[in-house]
Amino acid sequence: MSGQRDYYEVLGVSRDADESTLKKSYRKLALKYHPDKNPDDAQAEERFKEASEAYAVLSDAEKRRTYDQYGHEGLRGQGGFDPGGFSVNIQDIFGDIFGDFFGGSGGSRGRGRGSDLKEILNIEFDEAAFGCEKELTYQRHEACEPCNGSGAKPGTSPVTCTTCRGAGQVRVSQGFFAMARTCPQCQGQGTRIEQPCSDCSGQGLNATTKTVKVEVPSGADSGVRLRYVGEGHASRYGSGSGDLYVVLSVAEHPIFQRENEHVFCHLPISFAQAALGDELDVPTIDGKVQMKIPAGTQPGTSFRLRGKGIPHLRGRGRGDQFVEVKLEVPTKLNDDQRRLLQEFADASGEEVHPESRSFFDKVKELFD
Ligand SMILES: [Zn+2]
Ligand SMILES: [Zn+2]
Repeated sequence: MSGQRDYYEVLGVSRDADESTLKKSYRKLALKYHPDKNPDDAQAEERFKEASEAYAVLSDAEKRRTYDQYGHEGLRGQGGFDPGGFSVNIQDIFGDIFGDFFGGSGGSRGRGRGSDLKEILNIEFDEAAFGCEKELTYQRHEACEPCNGSGAKPGTSPVTCTTCRGAGQVRVSQGFFAMARTCPQCQGQGTRIEQPCSDCSGQGLNATTKTVKVEVPSGADSGVRLRYVGEGHASRYGSGSGDLYVVLSVAEHPIFQRENEHVFCHLPISFAQAALGDELDVPTIDGKVQMKIPAGTQPGTSFRLRGKGIPHLRGRGRGDQFVEVKLEVPTKLNDDQRRLLQEFADASGEEVHPESRSFFDKVKELFD
C-alpha cells in the first residue's frame, strides 16, 4: 500500500476538523461515490472505500490520535488496520450516518404498506368558501383478484428466493469491505414467483379507476389537504393500502381576491361620487350589499364589511370583506363635461386641499 493518501486530504478537511465537519464531509463524499449510484465504476468505488476508511479512522478519537502521531504506519497491524486485512464495518458507519438512506433494511423493502397517493382537486372560489361535495376519479393499484395479490398463478405460491434464502438481503464483498445489499434476484422480497399470474403479470397489483366522494369543508383554500385513509395504492401481500391525499386547488375569481378568511375587491368610483358621496351596490360572496361612500372619500380608501368574508375553516365566524375604492379619471370628456369641469376649476380658484398645501410647502422648503 504505497502512496496512500492522507486521511484529512481524502476528506478534504483541516487537521483540526471537529466531529461534525468530518461527518458532513464524509457524508458528501459517500453520497457522491456510493457504489449504488456508480455501478461498475471502479474509480468511484475506490474513492468511496478511501473516504470510508478515512472517516472510520478519524471519527475514532483513539485511532485519530495514533494516526496524527504516526501516520498510516501507526495503524498498521493494529486491530485489523493492517492494509491486508482492513475491515471497517461499512454498514455500521452507514447505519450511523445515513439510517435507511440506501435501503439498509432491504429485507423489509416492498413488504410495507402500499404507497400514498396525491391527487389535485380543482374547485371554484365559492365552493371553497362555502364547502361542497365533489367526486374525484383517480387511478390506484389494487390487489389482483385472481392471485389475491401474490402475483403467483392461482393454485401456486411464491417460493423462497434461493439467492438470499428468503432474507431479502445479500452480503457483497468489495475488496476488504462487506456490505449488505438488497437481493438483486428478488428485490428484497425474499420470495420468487415461478409461475406468474396472467392477470397481473406477476405484479400482484392491477391499476384500477376509483371514485371517491370528497367533502370539501367551508373555508377551504388552495393547498388544504384532505386525507382518505386506505384509499391510496394497495400493497403486495395485502399488508394494507396507503392513504389518498386530496390537495385542493381553488380557481381565481374574476372580482374577489382572498387572503385566508378575508376577501378583497376593488370598487371603481368617479371623482364626483368620491367628492359628493354616494350609496352603491357592492358585490360580496353572499350577493350584493349596499355600501355608503361618504363625501370626500380619498382614492385608495378601504372600507371594511364585517362578516362578509370567508367562513373560518372548521371553526365559527367569518372573515371580513375589504372594498378598496379606485378613483377613475375620465380619459375622454364631451363638451358639456369639459365646460362644467372648467367651471368647477374656476370656482375652486386658489383654494388648495390641505394635504397638497403641506406637500407644496415641503417642496418650497427643499428647493427654494
Ligand atoms: Zn432474494
Ligand atoms: Zn394476479
